[in-house]
Amino acid sequence: MPVTAKSQSTSSYNIAIIGSGLGGLSAAIALRRAGHQVTIYERYDFGGEVGASLSLASNGSRFLHEWEVDIPAAKPVILRNLIMHDWSSGEISGQYPLGDYRERFGTDYNNFHRIDLHKHLKNVATAEAGQGPPAQLKVWHKAIKLDPAQGRIAFENGTEAVHDVVVCADGIRSQMREQLGITPQVTPSTSCCYRCIISTKKLRELGLGEFADNSAIEFWGGKGIDKIVMSPCSNHEVVSCYCFYPAEKNDLKEDGWNISSTGENLAATFPDLDDRLRLLFRNAEDIKMWRLYNHEPYPYWVNGRCCLLGDAAHPMMPDQSQGACMALEDAGALGILFSAEYAHLSIPDKLQMYELERRPRASRVQESSRRARTDITERIGWSSANDRPGKLTIEEVCGYNMHSHVAELVEKLANP
Ligand SMILES: Cc1cc2nc3c(=O)[nH]c(=O)nc-3n(C[C@H](O)[C@H](O)[C@H](O)COP(=O)(O)OP(=O)(O)OC[C@H]3O[C@@H](n4cnc5c(N)ncnc54)[C@H](O)[C@@H]3O)c2cc1C
Repeated sequence: MPVTAKSQSTSSYNIAIIGSGLGGLSAAIALRRAGHQVTIYERYDFGGEVGASLSLASNGSRFLHEWEVDIPAAKPVILRNLIMHDWSSGEISGQYPLGDYRERFGTDYNNFHRIDLHKHLKNVATAEAGQGPPAQLKVWHKAIKLDPAQGRIAFENGTEAVHDVVVCADGIRSQMREQLGITPQVTPSTSCCYRCIISTKKLRELGLGEFADNSAIEFWGGKGIDKIVMSPCSNHEVVSCYCFYPAEKNDLKEDGWNISSTGENLAATFPDLDDRLRLLFRNAEDIKMWRLYNHEPYPYWVNGRCCLLGDAAHPMMPDQSQGACMALEDAGALGILFSAEYAHLSIPDKLQMYELERRPRASRVQESSRRARTDITERIGWSSANDRPGKLTIEEVCGYNMHSHVAELVEKLANP
């Protein structure tokens, strides 16, 4: 059985990342830039990303800038507005302009096609060019066992590897969580969701070109379970919709988020909705549906040499559009704590700081995402601290300065 040797140097570690989703790839980029030897183990030969949009608010986009990722190469649409429509008439009933977003938060609000972003991050993580040693990607390496104290991973293909640090970024159905001794508390939610995409060319033929041209996330509903969230991505070439509806309508029991459906089913699920959307749905492509689940926050994220990251650490409802942003923040925190600035900290200290930095903030976003599932006034951009003290706001999420928070935590560690 081949075993990866541990590195001898204390400042350059041999780090494993299990899972090559957006979280795992982001961690690989952050850690290679900090000078570490990174190996990404992926169970399949692809990242498994699907055709749908993904918005990165500034708290996620900020790290793409820090890591010198060429953002335009991933073909984002820069969001300029949040638009609320009346459910049936489609009339605009509210707007949150994002014109001053860059000025307020330091980056654009980027909306990507998930596949574009995944492809690009994979290239940035593994390319020879770029700061630090390129990460190695080993596909067909499904991790099945993990010894947290030793950093030893066993794979389904019969091989093993030992690493100084193991980052478990194996997604919402993470099996590595249990290996760290965590038992997830998961319950089916009352919501299901369809996702679909449509090309701008097709939209124009249908007379709906405005949806591609508006650089906006557009909402219908959201006061209760029913909600449509639409946005353009891929340089305005594609428009993507997420369509939430009560689970009782079809009591979907199958797991996964790749269950195919038809445009007619999708349109029939929302009989009173704006006719323009029902027309779009009947002509949409790649229509999939899935059931949403509630996940309770975990009591810890770190065990021995191993930590959780991304959806494996904080699976959340999609209603804050923050799951991937939180994964990028996790990766950012690892990049900071494993940088030369904190070389004096031991691995256990770094991982302890990582959990202290990340778990409270991600759990707060996780909780507020659950509330936002059925109440759009909880969603950042539509939420305000004046509604209710302690409500999550766009300022708290997008204006976050992780570098200074990490510095404070490390200072506290030194002077308890
Ligand atoms: C409807 C919807 C809309 C969303 N919109 C947004 C948005 O606008 N903005 C935002 O920030 N977030 C959004 N999110 C959340 C975001 O998609 C996720 O948080 C993010 O993609 C999670 O990335 P990840 O890398 O942690 O997990 P994943 O993408 O699930 O990656 C896990 C990887 O691990 C691999 N893997 C699993 N098990 C193993 C194993 N045992 N061994 C090896 N490899 C393994 C998998 O094959 C996969 O490649 C949305 C989510 C949904 C459902």
